[in-house]
Amino acid sequence: MEKRTVVTEFGEYVEYSNHGYVVHGSHFCIDAYQYVAADQEWLFCPACNLKPKVWCFDNGRSTACGCWNDRYDIFSIKDESIMSVYTRTGGTSEYDGDGLRKNWNKYCESGIVPCSHEMLRAEGKW
Ligand SMILES: [Zn+2]
Repeated sequence: MEKRTVVTEFGEYVEYSNHGYVVHGSHFCIDAYQYVAADQEWLFCPACNLKPKVWCFDNGRSTACGCWNDRYDIFSIKDESIMSVYTRTGGTSEYDGDGLRKNWNKYCESGIVPCSHEMLRAEGKW
């Protein structure tokens, strides 16, 4: 987490950021993101201290927490979507339905992003 002092004409304040996203105390994402079931199995974001909301659909899986720049520019952990697995392998046996939670918890424990859009794209996945 990075810290900087922001100076404005009204005074100054300290702003924290996480991988380039401003740390806030609440979620701010599109309604497609939903609170997770069994949230005790999901760790708290080490930057904003929130549990993530998740968006899982055929063509994508991603998280949203309190680290964001605006509603459409959010810090997000990813995992390969089921359609990507199907397209790549011709089936779904390699699909890990718990993969997004595992990636999220890896991030929470290490601070390192284990899976992003860029990482997936580089492997021909999404
Ligand atoms: Zn966060």
